[in-house]
Amino acid sequence: MFVCCGTALLTCHSFEKEVPLLESATGHSNQSLILHPQKRSATWLTRCNLANVSICREGDSVTEKCCWALQPKSCSSSTKDVSSVVIEELNMYGVKTTLMFVITTLVSKASRAFNGHSASSKLLVVGTLTLSSGGLVAYSDSQVDVSKTSAEVKENDCKKKRVVVLGTGWAGISFLKDLDVSAYDVKVVSPRNYFAFTPLLPSVTCGTVEARSIVEPVRNIIKKRNREIQFCEADCIKIDAANKKVLCRSVINNLVGNEEFSLEYDDLVIAVGAQVNTFNTPGVLENCHFLKDVEDAQKIRRSVSDCFEKAVIPGLSEEEQRINLHFVIVGGGPTGVEFAAELHDYVKEDLVNLYPTVKDLVKITVIQSGDHILNTFDERISSFAEQKFGRDGIEVQTGCRVISVSDKEITMKLKSTGEICSVPHGLVVWSTGVGTRPVVKDFMEQIGQGKRRILATNEWLKVKGCEDVYALGDCATIDQRKIMEDIDTIFKAADKDNSGTLTIKEFQDVIDDVLERYPQVEHYLKSKHLRDVTDLLKDPEGNDRSEVDIEGFKSALSHVDSQTKNLPATAQVAAQQGAYLSKCFNRRQQCEANPEGPRRFRGSGRHQFRPFEYKHLGQFAPLGGEQAAAELPGDWVSMGHSTQWLWYSVYASGSGLLAFYEFRPFGRVLTDASQPDRKKKKVVVVGTGWAATSFLKNLKSESYEVRVVSPRNYLSSRLCYPVSPMDSRSPQHC
Ligand SMILES: Cc1cc2nc3c(=O)[nH]c(=O)nc-3n(C[C@H](O)[C@H](O)[C@H](O)COP(=O)(O)OP(=O)(O)OC[C@H]3O[C@@H](n4cnc5c(N)ncnc54)[C@H](O)[C@@H]3O)c2cc1C
Repeated sequence: MFVCCGTALLTCHSFEKEVPLLESATGHSNQSLILHPQKRSATWLTRCNLANVSICREGDSVTEKCCWALQPKSCSSSTKDVSSVVIEELNMYGVKTTLMFVITTLVSKASRAFNGHSASSKLLVVGTLTLSSGGLVAYSDSQVDVSKTSAEVKENDCKKKRVVVLGTGWAGISFLKDLDVSAYDVKVVSPRNYFAFTPLLPSVTCGTVEARSIVEPVRNIIKKRNREIQFCEADCIKIDAANKKVLCRSVINNLVGNEEFSLEYDDLVIAVGAQVNTFNTPGVLENCHFLKDVEDAQKIRRSVSDCFEKAVIPGLSEEEQRINLHFVIVGGGPTGVEFAAELHDYVKEDLVNLYPTVKDLVKITVIQSGDHILNTFDERISSFAEQKFGRDGIEVQTGCRVISVSDKEITMKLKSTGEICSVPHGLVVWSTGVGTRPVVKDFMEQIGQGKRRILATNEWLKVKGCEDVYALGDCATIDQRKIMEDIDTIFKAADKDNSGTLTIKEFQDVIDDVLERYPQVEHYLKSKHLRDVTDLLKDPEGNDRSEVDIEGFKSALSHVDSQTKNLPATAQVAAQQGAYLSKCFNRRQQCEANPEGPRRFRGSGRHQFRPFEYKHLGQFAPLGGEQAAAELPGDWVSMGHSTQWLWYSVYASGSGLLAFYEFRPFGRVLTDASQPDRKKKKVVVVGTGWAATSFLKNLKSESYEVRVVSPRNYLSSRLCYPVSPMDSRSPQHC
């Protein structure tokens, strides 16, 4: 671990080993510790984003007890750039150039932030790199100046507008990250007191990445904002738009006092995400696993392990073993496909060594109702994924709709023939898209959107039919205004001389506003390979026209609205929307005086802000075996081994929020197992506690065929070490 504390460089030996000790000493698994060399005091490192490279402030002192884990390696008083110091250290350890490049970019980002801050709020940059594993995080810290005197703060408080934010996911956190909290009284409500980096959730299911590495506590984020944000760990159970308040209920058990409370707002930001969509399929809620949250991923991890444990219980027929090891994934979208690929790697690379007797009985099936998996991707990617899965032995059943799931079987209907068939399973993961949360559904009823499937906002993310309420991320969709609804007013506004016809010049004068207000025009031009908007006004033979009347204008633009696109439910969209909305909030007064948006074709003047514009950074699908497929902006497609890296850089540079990757830091580092020898004496060990483990560790197991019987397949609930890796000779475990 490299710790750069001001200009001092420290090294923590065997950091991985110390982590549990630090955790137990401090009680906080998501924070690391750093020793300040001059003051001999320890400083909490607020781990900015999930893992190993962090930007942080000096903060509270902590107990001496924790300090022994950190040993100063070298202290430098030079004024070298922080990144170069870190890079030098990395070079010493022979880190790959590619990784270096990404780290350099990230660290230089960090050092820029460092330079931009006043001395009193000195930033620390920490880079951690475990050589066998490696990891990196990028985080762009808030640019908002938080250095206000208490008098200023108090005076401001009286005028501050109250903003309530619901949710701490991509949209909510991205909104809070850049919001000028000195101008608002901000309260955040969420049942989750952490932010989760969802793109890596599938990797948590198989232990490639540890759950704690993909979460960032909300309290850390608040701390970075000078604690000017209040957080309540609660569910919002009702939005009362008429009275501008929300009713919330605490999610913490055994709360002393009233668990319900209400918060009044001037502005409400709804960023509650979506829930799984079961399409009301019987048995899904009761018998399937989901992959929406960190807890879900951890549950899947345990259940996969359980399936293997069940399969090796003595006395099972081969057929029973096969059923226990049949993993079914419903949904061939990015999440389902990534999970299938992760599971395949996990089984082939690790579990076969732990459970060699059943290694050939494992089956993974992906059920997809459409004709192809990854059908929102380019065709080339979808067929690349299907071929890869074919080679890996992952069965893909397309054109099948699941009609029920029991604890033993999954029943589906083949779309082509209408035939119904049932397949026994060991575990089902349901990953078929998203649905609206009850609190949002109820709100939609109140504001006259009850018949819609998803909450609608305008292009400025303001909820339609409701004042001062904004919705972003997966819980809402932008209802893009159709150009044909405004065609008469656009014509009128452009026809400056009221001649009843539009010249090209007149049309050109309103083009920028039209393109900004109706992004579908640009999509349409692209789809028709037209270079200029005025090309739309050409006659049917493609000849230029000097003027068009209203009918000609309408017919020229009549197909444009067909290119209106709904934005996907992705982190990219949510994060960009959060960042956009905070910018609008920060510049409210400024833009009230000088509106910056497009002209209002209905009504006068300009819109206060530019509408939200989504920048697509591409989409990515890991396919296992270090292979991935990516669709990049500009219709580029990339497939194969190198593609994995593209994804990290997209998140690092694009979202500006965070990016990281850990190469199996703790999990999936498993040892070889050998088949039990029939001639050996059999030893049965009952239990996996300290005594049994110590016995196993020292037993010369070459001489014995060892079986361990225990309800627990790990040593300690705290450390969760699987039994087999503890013993390099891998006893059989039941
Ligand atoms: C396994 C998986 C992998 C993914 N991979 C990618 C990917 O690679 N790239 C990509 O772009 N997208 C990916 N996504 C999609 C992405 O995670 C979502 O689009 C994104 O999380 C949406 O952000 P959000 O803020 O709208 O919702 P969320 O991130 O879901 O956050 C919602 C927040 O609201 C809180 N909340 C819920 N109910 C309430 C309530 N009643 N009151 C208050 N708060 C509430 C939740 O606790 C949570 O904090 C993935 C999703 C999953 C599940």
